[in-house]
Amino acid sequence: VGTESYDIIIIGGSAAGYTAALTAKKLYPDKSVAVFRLSDNPPIPCAIPYLASTIETCNRNLLPDKPLLDLGIKIITDEVVKIDRESRTVITKSGATYAYDKLIIATGALPFVPRSIDGTDLKGVYTIIKDYNILSEFQEAVRKAQRVVIIGGGFIGVELADDLSNLRKDITIVEMLPHCLALNLDEEFAKEAEGRLREKGVRILTGRAAKRIYGNEKVEGVELNDGTRIPADVVVLCVGVKPNVELAAKAGLKIGESGAIAVDEYMRTSDPNIFAIGDCAEKKSFLTGKPKPLYLASIAAHEARVAVLNLYNLRVTKRLKGYVGAFLTVVGGRAFGVAGLTENEARKEGFEVIVGRAKVPNRHPAVLPGATTTKVKLIFAKGDGTLIGAEASGGQEVAELVNMLAVAIQNKVTMIDLITLQYATQPMLTASPVSYYVVAATLDALSKAKL
Ligand SMILES: Cc1cc2nc3c(=O)[nH]c(=O)nc-3n(C[C@H](O)[C@H](O)[C@H](O)COP(=O)(O)OP(=O)(O)OC[C@H]3O[C@@H](n4cnc5c(N)ncnc54)[C@H](O)[C@@H]3O)c2cc1C
Repeated sequence: VGTESYDIIIIGGSAAGYTAALTAKKLYPDKSVAVFRLSDNPPIPCAIPYLASTIETCNRNLLPDKPLLDLGIKIITDEVVKIDRESRTVITKSGATYAYDKLIIATGALPFVPRSIDGTDLKGVYTIIKDYNILSEFQEAVRKAQRVVIIGGGFIGVELADDLSNLRKDITIVEMLPHCLALNLDEEFAKEAEGRLREKGVRILTGRAAKRIYGNEKVEGVELNDGTRIPADVVVLCVGVKPNVELAAKAGLKIGESGAIAVDEYMRTSDPNIFAIGDCAEKKSFLTGKPKPLYLASIAAHEARVAVLNLYNLRVTKRLKGYVGAFLTVVGGRAFGVAGLTENEARKEGFEVIVGRAKVPNRHPAVLPGATTTKVKLIFAKGDGTLIGAEASGGQEVAELVNMLAVAIQNKVTMIDLITLQYATQPMLTASPVSYYVVAATLDALSKAKL
């Protein structure tokens, strides 16, 4: 059997690998591109929580192969078990060898299973694995279960509880930190999200850790470190992910201090012909340069484009070193989002800040359809008035508001830029021109800045 050759080989066919393949074929139509993945029918990872009740079956939540195949991209379902950097080849589990000119590693992240919790191998205990067959089993189990305990109140645990609560089950979230979403949002927003979940009947136990999962072959419940026992038919571990770097580490590529693959600004690894993108690649904060665990599909897709643009020569200069980090979630029908640093993070990093807040109706007048109150919080560096963080909760407008504020942060806008912002308003679509969300929050900050 001869060695098949491709100009560009991508290991991984999810958010990062998929975007890299599409971008590569668009930018370099003459290059041959192959994508490797572990299994067929890759799920859209971000919508996995909605398999609980909203999305009927797993086959309605798939990343489609067609756009890749239409462009002539080869999809190979086979595990890459070795990267031979010297001969520039990858070797797969089935024993085949493929040669590359440029290699992109997009092997993602795997769910973290804490060793401190006993009983994680009992039947009925699940982690969120991005695999069609496993997710189909999970979907069936979680729908059948009456009592579900979710360990971990980060955005995955919270979204899962939110969707599952539509089925009127007995749901408990166990969160070690003082609040759910505490790593993503400031307390005022985290509390609001918790309130929404409680309204939907979800029990939230915070400030306590799961100690062991008990049962006889099959799970029967979870015991917490304060001795509380919560009976359960299904337990879901949502306590974070770890970058999947085994293949890269075995190939001798440098691993960064956070445990993810070390990359430069252009996603190059320590081997100039190998790039790493997505959850397996190390991320750094735009403000401090410190590693930050930003495992997000939006960042994976961004990195895919940066890597592909710079695959042969460095063709784009980056405005920002590191990541702003923009994040969105929905709880009880209300959207929550953040761009950049929360106030809590900013203060922990040692920033002196000025915070501006506004609560305004998202329609004018507030009797129009879809009206709700939008809450915006802006965090400015005190010294120079630069916007370093933004948070919001409200209706659907929060999604693009947060994206707009992420662009503002990337462009280092200041309080003065935002108080003189030019924007559009419309009664059925936005807040009023006299109290436009961002400007209203900036005015509050400006009043404290004592210019
Ligand atoms: C439940 C859930 C909800 C989420 N919601 C959001 C959200 O709303 N917004 C957001 O931005 N992010 C969200 N995320 C995060 C987002 O899903 C990840 O950041 C994203 O999937 C990362 O993409 P990736 O391609 O780097 O890795 P992964 O999605 O982990 O994919 C890894 C790929 O590599 C392949 N692979 C691994 N090893 C090998 C090998 N040895 N050989 C061949 N193939 C291999 C796998 O088959 C897979 O195709 C969510 C994640 C989860 C789990």
